[in-house]
Parts: sequence; C-alpha cells; structure tokens
Amino acid sequence: MAKAATGEALLRAQAEGCKRCPQLVASRSQVVFGGGAVEADLMFVGEAPGATEDREGVPFVGASGKLLDELLAGIGIDRSQVYIANVLKCRPPDNRDPRPDEIANCFEYLERQVEVIAPVVVVTLGNFATKLLRGDDTGITEIHGQVEVCTVGTRALWLYPVFHPAAALYRRPNLELLRADFSQLPALIERGAPERAPFSPASDTRRESAEKGAPPAPLSPPAPPTSPAPERTDDDGKPQLDLF
Ligand code: URA
Repeated sequence: MAKAATGEALLRAQAEGCKRCPQLVASRSQVVFGGGAVEADLMFVGEAPGATEDREGVPFVGASGKLLDELLAGIGIDRSQVYIANVLKCRPPDNRDPRPDEIANCFEYLERQVEVIAPVVVVTLGNFATKLLRGDDTGITEIHGQVEVCTVGTRALWLYPVFHPAAALYRRPNLELLRADFSQLPALIERGAPERAPFSPASDTRRESAEKGAPPAPLSPPAPPTSPAPERTDDDGKPQLDLF
C-alpha cells in the first residue's frame, strides 16, 4: 500500500474509535471519516455529516453531495479524483451546528488528514470549514473565491473558500457564485503546491499574507464561527444554520 493510503487507513481507524464528544458518540450511527482519492491534488472540507451521510458512512452523498458532483462535472473533474472530508466526523444531532468544543476535538483528525493527503488545493465549503482553516471569523460571503496560502499541520497549500452547496440549494443566486468560483479551480490546481510559509511551524495552521497583504493569524485552538445566519434544511428537512 502506498504511503498516503496507509496513513489514511491508520487515521481512519483511530477516528472510527473516537469517543471525544460524548453527545456525538451517543447519537451517531457511525463515524463519517471522509474519503476519495488519497493522493488527490484537490481536497474539499465541508461542515459535518447530515442524515444521509450518517446512514451511509460517506461524506456528501445527500442533496448537497449531488450538487457537489454536478459542480465538479462542470469543470471536468469526477468525484473519484478528489478527496472529501468534513470539519466534524460525526453528525450533530438534529443537524445542529457543530459546537466549538467538538470542532476543537475533531481538528486533529482534519489536520492529519490534510497532511496525509497532501493536496495542492483545499476548498473549504461554507463558513465552518473556512473560519476554522483561515483562523478568523470572516464570513464566506465576504471571502469566497479568494485564494490564500495556508499552512495546515506540516503542509502548505492553496486555501480556496466557496459557498457550501447547501447555501446554493437554499438560495439560487449563490449557485451562480459557486459555479464561478469552481471555474477557477483547474487553473489553481495547475499552479502546484505553494512554497511553505517560512514562519509557519509544524502543527500550526496559518494563512499567509502573500495574496492579501494581511498578517498571518494563528489557529490554536480554532476560532468558533459566531455569526447568525438564515436557516437552511438538509436532506431530512431539519434546519441547519450559518450558511452565509
Ligand atoms: N454532507 C457532508 O458530508 N458535509 C456537509 O457539510 C453537508 C452535507
């Protein structure tokens, strides 16, 4: 087995036995670790499994997942060519928002996951993943489509925030924005991995000033998303929050 596949399998086994969040352990059907091509250049990070994902054990297989597949097809990429993960590996009960303590508990898995997959580009889908990996509270409406150099664990990569597909299902104009942002992805992947930021120590996640002129922000522990937002519904009709 190749190195990435071995690393991913080991990490998956650890996550599958995780008991860090008692409420999620009690309510989950199974851990939805993530999956896809373990040597992918393109990795997606969503929010948390929904009802369908919890049932099937695979991320983004519900309505949001179908739209994600469609957006990928629109830029000539098949789902089998990418790796998909979430901020939380367990479904929050009633599709409530991930809690800051749960995000902090699960962050190590995501960080290691990024290290073993070693993607060129990480696309953060929506507010939770974006705020977590950027290390500040800027909302997705403001930041979507703006690429930055980011260090996650030991990896330097392009971080590319876009709207969560559920936001596009909820509000149609977001779909056009999402399509426009996706259209930039092939060129971004072509650039190859960015230089590692010289000031970024291992196990610290930072975005770099390179493209934006802003100082890097530390991310330990992760900043919890705070802004209120309109409701959305997932596959089972339960409301979900913080999409925009
Ligand atoms: N399904 C997932 O796996 N993640 C999300 O964020 C939404 C739906």
